[in-house]
Amino acid sequence: VPEGHSIHRLKRQFDSVFGGRRLSVSSPQGRFTAGAARLDGQIFTGSLAHGKQLFLRFDNELYLRVHLGLYGAWDFGGDETFRGASSIGAPRRIGEREIRDDGGTSPKAAGLASAGGYAGPPDPVGAVRARLVSDHGWADLRGPTACEVITGSELAAVIGRLGPDPLRPESDPAEFVRRVRTKGSPIGQLLMNQEIIAGVGNIYRAETLFRQGIDPWLPGKSLGEQKVLAMWADVVSLMEDGVRDGRIVTTAPRDRGNPAGPASAADAHYVYNRAGLGCRWCEAPVALAQMAARKLYWCPGCQN
Ligand SMILES: [Zn+2]
Repeated sequence: VPEGHSIHRLKRQFDSVFGGRRLSVSSPQGRFTAGAARLDGQIFTGSLAHGKQLFLRFDNELYLRVHLGLYGAWDFGGDETFRGASSIGAPRRIGEREIRDDGGTSPKAAGLASAGGYAGPPDPVGAVRARLVSDHGWADLRGPTACEVITGSELAAVIGRLGPDPLRPESDPAEFVRRVRTKGSPIGQLLMNQEIIAGVGNIYRAETLFRQGIDPWLPGKSLGEQKVLAMWADVVSLMEDGVRDGRIVTTAPRDRGNPAGPASAADAHYVYNRAGLGCRWCEAPVALAQMAARKLYWCPGCQN
């Protein structure tokens, strides 16, 4: 499942390439035909990301709610003006695996038509649940867990059920503290609960707990307020880096095999997916267990 930083990158991408544009909305696969008809021909006025959900707002006061789940992804393409949030590093696919359109990539290889050659979106490939098309480009959604049209009051109800999102400036850290400190479940489990904090997935969960030296098995209510606030601040900082970079890197350069340059995949994390390998700080083997049916990684030496 993409973690929250990917959804905030999607928000940025949609606002950048489709903001203020009138969109054709369809469902080539046919499973979203009625919903698409309610949005077709409306102007897209901006998006909202909260946790792992994205909401696209249209000028008839309706929202397209999308949760990518395990297998969902968006693909983008269009003419030379359809470049996304930045001309370098604009993602053309965001979902379970992000493909980046970096500087050296040729427009053709990046799925963008060459100058003057844009003739509309390609024929849909595979099961395209929703297709959005402007004068300059298109976005295809495949494999989402949720894709539905909702009203403003339904939007408020969905967000009301979620915990605060570390990537939204209006989120209140005290609300996170309150939700954690009233629960007897292990903190490792609470961080994955979208009603406690929205947007954190398995990687940010494991890495934040390591960086803060917190034993994932401690009950939420046993943690002091300052400790929980520090954890929130660390999640905010790590996830903001993720939005900027389009990948999750939690290690400090001094803790990597090669401190120079960008982190390699093998150097990007402290404990996530490193079971049995030596801890970068204390050399104890990184532990792995199941917690609420998800893999949990931690260092018993540093987190106690
Ligand atoms: Zn350690």
